[in-house]
Amino acid sequence: MLIVLLGPPGAGKGTQAARLATKYGIPQISTGDMLRAAVAAGTPLGKRVEGIMEAGELVPDDVMLEVVEDRLSQPDCALGAILDGYPRTAGQAETLDPLVQRIGQGRNSLVLVLDVPEEEVIRRISGRREEAGEAGKRDDDADHVVLERLRVYRELTEPLVEFYRDKGVMAEIAGIGTVDEIFDRMDATVREHLQG
Ligand code: AMP
Repeated sequence: MLIVLLGPPGAGKGTQAARLATKYGIPQISTGDMLRAAVAAGTPLGKRVEGIMEAGELVPDDVMLEVVEDRLSQPDCALGAILDGYPRTAGQAETLDPLVQRIGQGRNSLVLVLDVPEEEVIRRISGRREEAGEAGKRDDDADHVVLERLRVYRELTEPLVEFYRDKGVMAEIAGIGTVDEIFDRMDATVREHLQG
């Protein structure tokens, strides 16, 4: 089962992806975390994407496809995965389908969209920055970068909601309330999907 989580930055995708991964015994694949690890390790990929991430822009589709294909092809993804932060553009969405067919994960795919109002997203990201303090803060949580990431989301990623709605494999989840409440909504939708 492949579960794709869509939603604006700060919607809680990472938190919920980790919980779904634990519950369903399949790995969480967070492209943001993978890229941050590459930057921290100073790999060629990290050097290539560092400036792009700091600016809140998107890494090119061909680079991302390689990263995701490599990761999804690893043995721990044999039963599926939770994709957190991928796809983010029409180009990524269009190549994801053939990719999952190729590696045999085409069955049972489900896209969950976390709906969170924009004011709430900004409030949460500011909270994340304050909580993390200087040491733990993400370079891309600065105000102007947050606004740019939201703009990029609206312009390039949000249209994927319609793309997946048309394919009939998408469910929208109200991303407000406690982490437990949101998780319960997502989990109920996944269970319904698996039964149907
Ligand atoms: P995230 O932690 O998911 O918010 O990702 C942090 C940053 O990594 C984004 O702002 C992008 O610069 C980059 N990134 C992560 N996933 C993708 C993706 N699917 N396509 C392009 N860039 C990405």
